[in-house]
Amino acid sequence: MKFTHLHVHSHYSLLDGLSQIPQMVDYAKELGMDSLAITDHGVLYGAVEFFKEAKKKGIKPIIGCEVYVAYEKMTDMRPNVDNVRYHLILLAKDVTGYKNLVKLVSKAQLEGYYYKPRIDEELLFQHTEGLICLTACIQGKIPRQILSNDLKGAKETIQKYAQAFGPGNFYLELQHHESIPDQKIVNDALIKFGQELNLPLVATNDSHYLKITDAPAQDILMCINTGTTVNQEDRLTMLGEDFSLRSPEQMAELFKHVPEAIENTQKIADACNFEFILGETKLPKFEIPGGKTPNDYLRELCEEGLITRQMDKDPKARERMEYELSVINKTGFSPYFLIVQDFINWSKKNGIVVGPGRGSAAGSLVAYLANITNIDPFKFNLLFERFLNPERISMPDIDVDFADIRRDEVVKYVSEKYGADHVAQIITFGTIAARVSIRDVGRALDYPYSYCDKVAKMIPPMHTLQETIDKVQEFKALYESDPQAQKLIDFALQLEGVARHTQPMPAESLLQLIH
Ligand SMILES: [Zn+2]
Ligand SMILES: [Zn+2]
Repeated sequence: MKFTHLHVHSHYSLLDGLSQIPQMVDYAKELGMDSLAITDHGVLYGAVEFFKEAKKKGIKPIIGCEVYVAYEKMTDMRPNVDNVRYHLILLAKDVTGYKNLVKLVSKAQLEGYYYKPRIDEELLFQHTEGLICLTACIQGKIPRQILSNDLKGAKETIQKYAQAFGPGNFYLELQHHESIPDQKIVNDALIKFGQELNLPLVATNDSHYLKITDAPAQDILMCINTGTTVNQEDRLTMLGEDFSLRSPEQMAELFKHVPEAIENTQKIADACNFEFILGETKLPKFEIPGGKTPNDYLRELCEEGLITRQMDKDPKARERMEYELSVINKTGFSPYFLIVQDFINWSKKNGIVVGPGRGSAAGSLVAYLANITNIDPFKFNLLFERFLNPERISMPDIDVDFADIRRDEVVKYVSEKYGADHVAQIITFGTIAARVSIRDVGRALDYPYSYCDKVAKMIPPMHTLQETIDKVQEFKALYESDPQAQKLIDFALQLEGVARHTQPMPAESLLQLIH
């Protein structure tokens, strides 16, 4: 029997999921599945990586999210309503659904953030098109109503959601977690509601890690997340239950009393056909005075540049400019140069310090002439082909440094010129590196600080744990002889590389222009 996991957390559910994406896709394949969803908590951070990885390995990717829904209004941020939010699973069927998902997730971050990014039902019901909705874990609204014995309320909510998402797009979600008695109560009630209201069921496992043997490492991750240690009682833990990527056989066995809940996973997988279109250049339109073409206008700027840079008498410079312009024209990147020179020249005019240019862009005479860079490529013998190669066309990438304290003015200028929806700011992920992993795991295991510090300092800079075991004799000996160290290092190996937090790009260009 075919089965697809539709409720799956990756490590982008920061410190709440252990699974790194390549391993996740590999494991789904190993288990014989042909589709897999990603539903991180409140974010879509992993969507593109997951999509690419799944496509590469012949797994159909389903992009989704486990969103947080505020009890009442998402803008309600009174301290006394802390922690009042529900979970809900949304899966994109098509491009409309994906766009709606992006809108919901973005608004949750920008307007509904209170401990977590939250939407509310009012917003949700305006963006249901193209989405499939599952009722989520026992933190979902319907399960909570069932658990507080408000069956009338639960029924009303079910009917409201079923109507909002439309026939075939709303599923009552069952999970098999035997050690959680509430789950059984919820399942029984949902099965009854399904029969009474003629609504479909779906089985999921709320996967937070891949194999059941990963559960202790997931527990360490939760300790890191909540600042607790494994020795503390009454802490939040998922230990004792199976939140792995259970096999299709296991899922079929667990839900043999409701086979439709398994069959429907495939129905949903078949209905979800959203695909990213990657690798397509989408530049905003650059308005050119006097109806000139971008190629003409760039040439004009370069001609002026030849004079300002005092190169107009140098045949070598003109020859190179002609060559570079011909490549730029051929590849269609003139508008890109025009956009970049525009905000750089605006910044300079407004007294904002701009870096001289760096990386491969410094090899372009056109960039020098258009005042994008301030480095004469002849002087340093820099090659244009390293920047833009006519043999291997890819979008050029000009890194620009602005004075930190005034960078936001540049962002504002660009947003106003091209529209805020055409400008993106970039974050990166801080991941758990080898030394941090030892220290974090040590703290969670309640090991003495000095001991963990000693072990961490044995790891040479820029080395992974495995490299350290392979190369550093002393570390290997410790690993093999000291059971306490072995436990520490084994967990650290499992956590290494997991995303820990988001961070803004350090002192670099924060801008990405999008069509
Ligand atoms: Zn949940
Ligand atoms: Zn979940």
